[in-house]
Amino acid sequence: MPHSIRVNALALRDWRLKANNLEEVMAKVIVLGGGIGGISASYELRSLLGNKAEVTVVSDSAWFQFVPSNPWVALNWRKPEDIKIHLPEVLARFGIGFEAGGAKHILAAENSIELNDGRRLAYDYLIIATGPALAFDEVEGLGPDANSISICHVDHAEGAATRWEVFCRDPGPMVIGAVQGASCFGPAYEFALMVNTDLRRRKIRDQVPITFVTAEPYIGHLGLGGVGDTKGLLESVLRDRDIRWVINAKLDRVAADAVEITEIGEDGKAKAQRRIPSKLTMFIPAFRGVSCLMGEDGKGLPSLANPRGFVLIDKYQRNPTFKNVFAVGVCVAIPPYEQTPVPVGVPKTGYMIESMVSAVAENIGDMIAGREPQHEATWNAVCLADFGNDGVAFVALPQIPPRNVNWAGQGYWVHLAKVGFERYFLRKVRKGTTEPAYERIVMKALGIGKLRHKHPPAPATAAE
Ligand SMILES: Cc1cc2nc3c(=O)[nH]c(=O)nc-3n(C[C@H](O)[C@H](O)[C@H](O)COP(=O)(O)OP(=O)(O)OC[C@H]3O[C@@H](n4cnc5c(N)ncnc54)[C@H](O)[C@@H]3O)c2cc1C
Repeated sequence: MPHSIRVNALALRDWRLKANNLEEVMAKVIVLGGGIGGISASYELRSLLGNKAEVTVVSDSAWFQFVPSNPWVALNWRKPEDIKIHLPEVLARFGIGFEAGGAKHILAAENSIELNDGRRLAYDYLIIATGPALAFDEVEGLGPDANSISICHVDHAEGAATRWEVFCRDPGPMVIGAVQGASCFGPAYEFALMVNTDLRRRKIRDQVPITFVTAEPYIGHLGLGGVGDTKGLLESVLRDRDIRWVINAKLDRVAADAVEITEIGEDGKAKAQRRIPSKLTMFIPAFRGVSCLMGEDGKGLPSLANPRGFVLIDKYQRNPTFKNVFAVGVCVAIPPYEQTPVPVGVPKTGYMIESMVSAVAENIGDMIAGREPQHEATWNAVCLADFGNDGVAFVALPQIPPRNVNWAGQGYWVHLAKVGFERYFLRKVRKGTTEPAYERIVMKALGIGKLRHKHPPAPATAAE
């Protein structure tokens, strides 16, 4: 055999062997959800596991939206297209598969999901990152299809922007807040204070009495027992901006021209009922799991999700029953921090979600290598609430008290930092990176890490 043919034959055999080997070791990972948690997870898996995993994102939309910018969209400070990214092209560039059909059922016992079009996709590992379903139906008249606007989805925010311009031509009283069972209070404060800024710029603030209505037991509780002095800071900011507030409030009904609430006393009993006039109303609703986590009877999936549809996880972000199923982001079940007269949940914010993502990617890497998972997310919370011309930031390390760092601060720099956060995150999604060097350096300098314990790797098993 001539030398050149023999070399090519050997190269071909070598290539075949490699291909077979890759087939053997390539784990199929499905990431359910194309939001902040899901996209970060797919990039982190791609960068950590390379050819050891075939990664596919399954979402129910072809678009990524940067949810933290939705309040800006609602006030026309951003256009929807500024904060949306079309996922199919971007993900294809990084070798990540994509399906936009959405999951109808999670068949965890069969290691597969059923898509809305009836197809089934099998997986070795599943990461659930489906975010929240918005429980507008739990309060009469609540939601963008009824009597209030919403900033929780970019399409809602786009609709709100139209209503905002109409309102500004013929202004009146506003009520803004967060309902009983809500867990996401930051955006409610943000929106009330951004509305104040926008109205002052238009010189019509004097025509708009604003009332902030919240389920929290005090202003600045945020579902976290406060962070640093968020109570003092946010009370002072609301007072300074002429925004009145009602705490321990249960929202009973949203009408076209008013909201009806019950104030609850410390003993948990109704104290007073009020009707507050409102020409434009925005409430953050309670969240629950998306429909594929609720089950046929709407009571959650046995062993996978609790009755509210939030995914049950252990300290490794892994479901205790289905040990190849992980979850990150808002869809994760976290018990309330404390009992309050009106129920409030614990928020799941961006950096905390990214810490969950890092732990999950490492843990799937461990399992592929034949080891037990060993990485725990810090759930450190770093949050920026923008008011347009000012803002409040807080750092809670860890998120639940008692904390090692418990700090809140205020200033125009928070607005700039939020703009920076938006640009950084959208760039990250476009470029396929998870943690560029500068983020690592800045966060490390601040003592903020994503992983709690990074044990030395356990000895590899024979399977590796
Ligand atoms: C208005 C608002 C402002 C916020 N601002 C901030 C902020 O400033 N800073 C901060 O740190 N945090 C903020 N948060 C909190 C948190 O960071 C966001 O909610 C974040 O988007 C949560 O990420 P996620 O991946 O869990 O969910 P999402 O980003 O909501 O993503 C969920 C994904 O799952 C997809 N999906 C849903 N159902 C299915 C299905 N059946 N099959 C497949 N895919 C499905 C959705 O289409 C979506 O792509 C904010 C939250 C809200 C609501």
